Amino acid sequence: MSKEYVIAVAGNPNSGKTSIFNRLTGANLKVGNWPGVTVEKKEGRVVRGDTAFTFVDIPGTYGLSARSVDERIAMDFLTKERLHAVIVVLDSANFNRNFYLFNLIMEMGLRIIPVLNMSDMAEKRGITLHVDRLSAIFGIPFVKTVASRGKGISDLWNVLENIGQLGKPKHSLLYPKPVEAAALKLMGRFPKQVTSRFQALGVLDGGIVIPEDEEFRRVVTELQGEIEEGLDGDLDELIAEKRYEFVYSIAKECVERRLSTEQKVALSDRIDRVVTNRYFGGPIFLFAMWLLFFLVFTVGNPFVEWINNGFSALSSLVSGSGIVASFIREGLISGVGAVLVFVPSIFILFFLIAIMEDSGYLARAAFVADRFMHALGLHGKSFIPMLLGFGCNIPAIMAVRTLENEKDRVLTAMAIPYMSCSARLPVYLLFVGVFFTHHQTTVVFSLYILGIVIAIVVARVLRRIFFTKAVSPLIMELPAYHVPSIKTATRSAGIRTGFFVKKAGTFIFGAVLVIWMLASLPAGVGYASAESIIGRIGSAMAPVFAPAGFASWQASVALIFGFLAKEVVVGTLGTLYGGQASLSSAIGSQFSALSAMSFMVMTLVYIPCVSTIAVIRREIGTKWAALSVGVSVTLGYVLAVLVFQAGRFLGIG
Ligand code: GDP
Ligand code: MG
Repeated sequence: MSKEYVIAVAGNPNSGKTSIFNRLTGANLKVGNWPGVTVEKKEGRVVRGDTAFTFVDIPGTYGLSARSVDERIAMDFLTKERLHAVIVVLDSANFNRNFYLFNLIMEMGLRIIPVLNMSDMAEKRGITLHVDRLSAIFGIPFVKTVASRGKGISDLWNVLENIGQLGKPKHSLLYPKPVEAAALKLMGRFPKQVTSRFQALGVLDGGIVIPEDEEFRRVVTELQGEIEEGLDGDLDELIAEKRYEFVYSIAKECVERRLSTEQKVALSDRIDRVVTNRYFGGPIFLFAMWLLFFLVFTVGNPFVEWINNGFSALSSLVSGSGIVASFIREGLISGVGAVLVFVPSIFILFFLIAIMEDSGYLARAAFVADRFMHALGLHGKSFIPMLLGFGCNIPAIMAVRTLENEKDRVLTAMAIPYMSCSARLPVYLLFVGVFFTHHQTTVVFSLYILGIVIAIVVARVLRRIFFTKAVSPLIMELPAYHVPSIKTATRSAGIRTGFFVKKAGTFIFGAVLVIWMLASLPAGVGYASAESIIGRIGSAMAPVFAPAGFASWQASVALIFGFLAKEVVVGTLGTLYGGQASLSSAIGSQFSALSAMSFMVMTLVYIPCVSTIAVIRREIGTKWAALSVGVSVTLGYVLAVLVFQAGRFLGIG
């Protein structure tokens, strides 16, 4: 045989690698194992004219590092074997995610034959890949295939038969100067261990296991330290981000999405250009959230007032001083009613979230957050469960199952309890209605933002402590924009509001019943007086909260019972102040604007509700659930005290 070529077939799992491999090799297979592991290795030898090709099907991977067995096998094979070229099989319908791997293999300095497989699927989804542009950018031929039907395989053979003339892809990904310099230094000092720039980067970003060599390790740590000093982030994140940016930029030029008609795409793209813009994307998201709360207030408040008046009227109808009358007035109407008055606000909140979700905007918000989340060492996909947390933390934590890796699942589940769920909203609404009548939207909006900030800081800190290195590459595909359906949104909001009402009728009712009883006992004591059982419990706790500005025993009781569900905070206050003229006036005399603020911050942070804790425990384990409680209790208290003391220092309260 005059020429012998060894060619690897690489690609993401399910990109169609094996199909391509089978089409190329037919039945000439040799099946064995990769050295040292029980992962199947398939080789096929094909002779064409005077040339023999040996194809090797390497394990499907998303990246190339020492982090998983498959990736290690793939990387070892690609670095150590004398390969003539690598066929990189790309799923055209998921270009970005697949192209990330192409980029890595290109960085390894290998010759590449890129195959755009699944082109039928891409077409079906309205995705067009500009093969000519891709070929021009990289200076190598790209081949379009449908491997399952054998389409394009002859084109692939054409490239293979001319493989002698195939050059390496023109590489255009440059890292910041200090990173490039460090890579060069490493290659210069340890030419035996580090034979390529790709390897040098892998050593620096932790993707490649460093050999047991003290001198080598010392130099690597030193270089890492030097680079990270000039950066605000980790080196591995910086490198991953550069790679994403590169993939995005190629996709922008070479991938076109047509959703159903040309105009729709053009419009959708134009919207995306603004909405996901590097600089405007974040502010637009914040504005959307601000608008959401603005509508919750402007549309919701009149309804809230009506219901409130209705309950007052109802309450005045119940006369008498018997136990039953007292329970109906103080427990049922003042307690459960205090929560129920906010049904319109809750409905509007859920309705608007459903509209954002249905229109496709929420996915964009996650996309915008992706860059930001990566900078924090979290996956962009984590943002979706976090946004769901605005509705209720419980389904949000269950949604972390959709994340691929353990680190992201744990960190996201630990972050979600700080996302301000709809149960906290009644507490905010009650207090801003009394103290911040002219700045309701701003105050509530700030609390939501505070929740996001705390969530992110907590995730970031936990990551530092428990998970050092690991960035999982994944890029999401955006769903098409829709005109949101009012019907769907109404139904979804109706269902979720129904849960809220049901919770008020069962769980919160039960809590209120207990509180009412404890407030009426021991017999003969004035209802909800400091001498009642609950008054004594609250009074014992109250000094603890004095530094945070809310030392009334009622506030303490509300927080203790709020552990069951945060709506109970409002239910408790309603029940305990049930004997007074109105809840608003009672709150007005017991709190100041400043202590109201610290109380809201406390309510936001101080503990996940009991059901949330149970779900955290089920999803990620007891240890994490306990940690979540510990962290939130400490953090909530410290922040509440901080808000109050800082306010006092500034002369606000
Ligand atoms: P691998 O995991 O990369 O080895 O992928 P396989 O070759 O096992 O293919 C995964 C699935 O996709 C199989 O069901 C194939 O029949 C199918 N498949 C492969 N190529 C194509 C293609 O071009 N178009 C479509 N529609 N399906 C394909
Ligand atoms: Mg396969």
